[in-house]
Amino acid sequence: MLEYLEQTAGSSISHINNLRIFSETEFVSIDDSTRKNLELDQNLRDAGLSYTLYEVLNQTCTAMGARLLRNWLHHPLTESGKIDARLDRVGRLYRDQKQLVRSREILSSILDIERLTGRIAMERAHGKDIIALKQSAAHFFKLADIFRECDIPFSFITDTEISAAHGIFSLIEKSVLDDCSIMLNEGGLIKKGWSERLDELHMLRDNSNAVLEKYLMEERELTGIQNLKIKYNRLIGYFFEVSKGNLSFVPEHFIRRRSLANGDRYTTDRLIELETELNNVHANINELEQKLFLEIRSTIAEKTGELLLISREIAEMDVIQSFARSATVNAWVRPVFSDNGNMCIQEGRHPVVEAHLPSGEFIPNSICLSSAENAELPSFALITGPNMAGKSTFLRQTALIVLLAQIGSFVPAESAEITPVDRIFCRVGASDNLARGESTFLVEMTETAHILRNATERSLVIMDEVGRGTSTEDGLSIAWAITEYLLEKTGAKTLFATHYHELSQIKHPRLADFCLDVLETEGNVVFLKRVKPGASANSYGIHVARLAGIPDAVVRRANEILANSLPGKTVISPPDESKKEKHSSVKTPVPQLFSEEELVIDEIITLNPDAITPLDALSHITRWKNLLFPSK
Ligand code: ATP
Repeated sequence: MLEYLEQTAGSSISHINNLRIFSETEFVSIDDSTRKNLELDQNLRDAGLSYTLYEVLNQTCTAMGARLLRNWLHHPLTESGKIDARLDRVGRLYRDQKQLVRSREILSSILDIERLTGRIAMERAHGKDIIALKQSAAHFFKLADIFRECDIPFSFITDTEISAAHGIFSLIEKSVLDDCSIMLNEGGLIKKGWSERLDELHMLRDNSNAVLEKYLMEERELTGIQNLKIKYNRLIGYFFEVSKGNLSFVPEHFIRRRSLANGDRYTTDRLIELETELNNVHANINELEQKLFLEIRSTIAEKTGELLLISREIAEMDVIQSFARSATVNAWVRPVFSDNGNMCIQEGRHPVVEAHLPSGEFIPNSICLSSAENAELPSFALITGPNMAGKSTFLRQTALIVLLAQIGSFVPAESAEITPVDRIFCRVGASDNLARGESTFLVEMTETAHILRNATERSLVIMDEVGRGTSTEDGLSIAWAITEYLLEKTGAKTLFATHYHELSQIKHPRLADFCLDVLETEGNVVFLKRVKPGASANSYGIHVARLAGIPDAVVRRANEILANSLPGKTVISPPDESKKEKHSSVKTPVPQLFSEEELVIDEIITLNPDAITPLDALSHITRWKNLLFPSK
C-alpha cells in the first residue's frame, strides 16, 4: 500500500511514518444501509448535508476537526472507558462556557496543519504555507493553555511535541518574511538577519554605489593612493584608475588591464567579484533565497511526526469543543454508561427533526429496553400507530441517541443510561435498487437477512415496517416470524414499527407493545407524537390520504370500502401459548427464516480455521452433524 502511495504521489511520503491497527471490535459496526437510513452525513433525498446528524452536530472550527468528527460519526466506540474519557473532556468545557468560547475563537484561526505538514513533507509547501504553519502554531500554544487550565488531558502530544512546535515557530519567525511570495524562485522569502551572505546581496542590490565606494575606501587606505578612483566603461567594466605619479604604490593584488598616457587601469579579484555580483545580484538573491527556504522547509520536515501528532490533538480538541457547543446550543445531557444490558432513554428527542422544528414543538419520548436475560425490562418494543404519528422518528431517534452517546457526545434527552452496543442495524422504509436488478422487496429482505444473521445480544436493531413490500399475508407472516426470531434467537434490543396491528397478538415476556397516541375529535385526528404503552387500534391511513390532498370522492369511497370490510380478517392466529415453552428454554420450536443447512454453511464460511484449536474443530463438526442429521 505504501509503495502504491509513493508511486501515485510522485514524491516523498515520509510524513506517513507509522501505521495504526484498528480492531473491528473497537468500534460499533454500522453497515451501509444503516448509515444511509440514519442519515449520518448524507440525507436520503439528495445525499447532501442538510437534515443530517452531522449538520446538527458539527460545530467544529477547523478542517481537521470537521474531518475527525465525520470519522467519529462513522466509528462509535464500544468500550465505555474510552467513551467516558471523551465525555469527561466534553463535560469540562461544557461547564466552563467562557473557555469554550475562547477555544472556539482560537480554533477559528488555526489552519489545516495536517494538510500543511503533508505539503511540507512532500516538498510542495510554499512560503505562505510556512507562514500559515507559524501562525497556526502560535494559536495552538494558546489553545493548549486553555486545555491545561480546564484540566483536560492531551491525547497524543507530550512536551516533546510542544517544544518541537516552539522550535518550528521560532525558526520560521526568524527566517521567513510574513508577507512572503508564494513563488520559490522570485525572492521575497527570507528575512533580514537570517543569512549574512543574503544580507550582503540585498545591500549590494539596494546600494551598489555605496558598496563600490566602501571598497574604494578600503583600497585607498591600504595603498595610500588618495586619488585612487573606480571608474566604469562598457568595454572593461569596473576598474581602478591610478595616476602616473602613484604607480609605485600599486600593490601586488592589482592586475593591470590597460596603460594610458596619464595613468594605468587596474582590476582586482574583489572588484571582479563585486562586478559579477552587481551584474547578477538579482539572480543570486533569488537563487540564495530559494536555497535557504528549501533548507528551512526540510528542517521543518524533520519534525513531520510531531506536527502530525499536534494536528491530531487539535482535531480532537476541536471535536471535543464542538460536542460541548452542540450540547449547549441544543440542551443535550451527558449519557451514563452501564454494563447491565439496559438502554433507558427518558424524554429522548430526534436531534435533526427537533433542530428543524420551532423551539419546544418536538414531543420527547422515552424507551427502556434491556438485552439481559434476567432483566425485568423488555428487549423488544413493538410499535404500532397510525401513519404520520411519528413512529419512524421515534425509531431513528433511539438509534441516533445511542450512536451519539457512543461517539462521546451529549445526547438529546432528559437522561440516558446506555450499555454500549456492538452493532446498530437500521432498516427503515423500502428503497429500490433497480440498477442492481433487485426489486424493492428483495432489497428489503436482503437487508433483513443481513440483520438476522449478524445481530447479537449486544446489538441495537431498528426495523421500520418490514414486510410492507409484499402482499399483506406474506408481509405479516414474515414480520411475525422475524419478531419471534429476534426475541428467541438473537435477544438484541429491538424497536420494531409496524402497520400490522395483528402482531400485537404476539405475547412474549420480553416483548412490550407501544403505540403512538392520537386524539380523535369530531372526525378530526390529531397526532400527539407521544409514545404510550399498548397497541394501536387504527391506521388512520385514509385520514392521512385526505391530509395529503387525495380528492374527496376517493376518500369517501375508501371509507365506504373500509366500513364494509370490517371487522378485518386476522391472517395469522397467535401461537398457542399452552403449547409454547418458556422463552428461555433452548428447545422452543421457533419458526426459522433459514434452514439448518444454510446456517451451517454460513458458519463454515465465516469460521477461520486458523483461529480455532483442533478440539474446537471436532466439537464444531459434532454439533453440525447433530444439527443436520439429528437422528444419526
Ligand atoms: P408513516 O407510518 O406514515 O411512515 P410515521 O409514523 O413513521 O409515519 P414519522 O415519519 O416519524 O411518522 O413522522 C411524521 C411527521 O411528524 C414528521 O414530519 C416528523 O417531523 C413529525 N414528528 C415525528 N415525531 C415527532 C415528535 N416527537 N414531535 C414533533 N414532531 C414529530
